[in-house]
Amino acid sequence: MQTGGFKELSEQVFSKDLCSTCGACVGICPYFKVHTGKVIPVFNCDLEKGRCYAQCPKTGIDFEKLSQNYFSQPYQENVLGTYIKIVTSKAGKNVNGGLFQNGGTVSALISFALENGTIEGAVLTDVEGLIPVPKIVENAGDVLKCASTKYAAAHTTSVVNEAAMQGRQNLGVVGTACQLTGVAQIRANPLEKTDFTDPVSFTIGLFCTWALDTRKILEYLSGKLDPATITGMDVPPPPAEVFVVKTNNGQTELPLSEVRTLIPNGCSVCPDLTAEWADLSVGAFEGKSEWNTLIIRTDKGEELVNQAVEAGFLILDEFPAESLEHLTLGAGNKKKRALKIMNQEVT
Ligand SMILES: Cc1cc2nc3c(=O)[nH]c(=O)nc-3n(C[C@H](O)[C@H](O)[C@H](O)COP(=O)(O)OP(=O)(O)OC[C@H]3O[C@@H](n4cnc5c(N)ncnc54)[C@H](O)[C@@H]3O)c2cc1C
Repeated sequence: MQTGGFKELSEQVFSKDLCSTCGACVGICPYFKVHTGKVIPVFNCDLEKGRCYAQCPKTGIDFEKLSQNYFSQPYQENVLGTYIKIVTSKAGKNVNGGLFQNGGTVSALISFALENGTIEGAVLTDVEGLIPVPKIVENAGDVLKCASTKYAAAHTTSVVNEAAMQGRQNLGVVGTACQLTGVAQIRANPLEKTDFTDPVSFTIGLFCTWALDTRKILEYLSGKLDPATITGMDVPPPPAEVFVVKTNNGQTELPLSEVRTLIPNGCSVCPDLTAEWADLSVGAFEGKSEWNTLIIRTDKGEELVNQAVEAGFLILDEFPAESLEHLTLGAGNKKKRALKIMNQEVT
């Protein structure tokens, strides 16, 4: 594992505009803050080795070490990461309806885990206007309030740092690939702190092609829409080429070509579509948006899914072979694009 501190993080990540605002450097020291959806290094620190650097998903990741830690096996060079099986899923009859992004699988699993005592709390991402607000929730009502996708990049990982500092345990965490790579690095305790306890029980990854820079989307939408009226956002599958913003007064379709200009540079070097460092990963099931694609990666994840099905919180169905082909192609393309850009950054 490469080591470094504030100086190296500034040179390798912030000055190259590669920060994706995941929050892995926030909440462990006073020198990193989040302001209007952006991580800001506020003060120079001369520590040679810092967790800010070691936990960042944009510095050198030791895939082998993370894989041993997470999956107890060598890193598998599979474009979908390590997994046991893939199914389609949606919330079952015992989940009270919410404004789910797709099938409600994520909210259903978290609600079930809270209700049966698998976890004491869950790190989820709420929103105020357009600004994502990550938090720990402890009951099913608050899980439903956090449902739906906020397309603005969120500093969700910072809440895991804060939870570790407070000695909390047994938390579920929901996040995108960059956020959960940060969480996996936190859980590996890279600087071997003797007072570290792992606050996380399990993680649910969200498929992610890109998120948007919060400040840029705020500016882009100002004059077009009142952020206070926004109830949801969506990117319908090709060939739609639109970004849909749902409001109390109906919905507006914006050209995806314009919205893509709001993607932070950091997303362009992310190789991970399906959030590989997770117990379970969930995305939209293309063609049936009221269902999810669910990747079961660990025994712990599989046990949670089976229990949730038995308790009427989740419904499963088969994942068609042609969908697997399509998902594999999409995940491979994201890796290729990221590697090409990373190579250009190095040369
Ligand atoms: C930025 C982003 C981009 C995505 N891109 C794709 C994609 O390209 N392809 C695809 O198939 N799926 C993508 N997804 C996942 C998809 O939008 C749904 O989240 C997923 O299908 C789960 O649906 P659900 O109905 O089970 O979620 P719900 O039950 O509605 O729960 C959604 C959960 O997402 C969490 N969440 C919301 N916004 C964020 C955020 N910004 N950061 C961290 N957590 C958040 C909330 O805490 C909530 O618990 C993306 C998600 C995000 C956040």
